[in-house]
Amino acid sequence: VGGRRIVVTPSEVHEFAYCPRLYFFNVHVGRERGLRERLRLLLGRLYHAIFSLRDRAAGRSVEESIEVELGGGVVVRGRPDAFSVEDGRVLVVERKSSRPPRSGAWMSDAAQASVYAFMLTMIYGAREARIRVEYPGASRETVLDPERVALVSRLIDDIVAVKVHGIVPWAARSERKCSRCPFRRECEILDEVDVDGELYEPGSWLAGLVVDRGFG
Ligand code: SF4
Repeated sequence: VGGRRIVVTPSEVHEFAYCPRLYFFNVHVGRERGLRERLRLLLGRLYHAIFSLRDRAAGRSVEESIEVELGGGVVVRGRPDAFSVEDGRVLVVERKSSRPPRSGAWMSDAAQASVYAFMLTMIYGAREARIRVEYPGASRETVLDPERVALVSRLIDDIVAVKVHGIVPWAARSERKCSRCPFRRECEILDEVDVDGELYEPGSWLAGLVVDRGFG
C-alpha cells in the first residue's frame, strides 16, 4: 500500500464484523464515548482481570502483545485474552462478558478470536489451532480450518479498503444495533447519497452472518 505500514487490530475486526459501516464512522469520523459505554468498558476490563488469574493458573499467556506481517505492508497487531502453545497446538481463549447466542458464537466474537488463532499459527508454525469463545456460563469452540483462514483474510482485506481507501462499507442494519448507534443519522444520509447500488460495499458478504454456527 504505497510503502506504508497499515496496522489492523483484531478489535477492529470485531467492530467491522459487528457493523462495517459503524467501523467506518469510528475510523473516519470518531467520537467521544458516552458514560454508559465507558462504564461498560470498565466492567469488561474488570471481568477480564478476574478471569486472567484463572488463565495464568492454567499456564496460559495472558494479554501478550503479538504481531504478524502480511503482504502489502499490512501488519496485524493485538493482545489475545489468553493462549497456550503445546506440542505444536495452539489454543486461543477469547472472553466476552456479553450474553451468548443460543448456539454458536456471535460473528464479531468469532471473527476476532479467529484472527488471533490465525496470527498465533503463523508465529508458532502450529499444525493445529483451537479457538474458544468464553461467555458467562457458555463456552463455544471450533478449529481454525482453511475456510476460517479465508474468512480472516477477507475481513482484513475489506478493513484495509475502508481504513486506507475510505470506501464506504455495507451497513449491517438491525433495530437492536441501530437504535443505540451514535451515527444513525449520518448512516441514513450516506444511504441517500449512494443510490445506484452498483458500487462494491466492503463487508456486504456478512449479510445474514450474525451468528457463526461453526462454533459448537
Ligand atoms: S445506524 Fe446501524 S447500520 Fe448504520 S452504522 Fe449504526 S449500527 Fe451500523
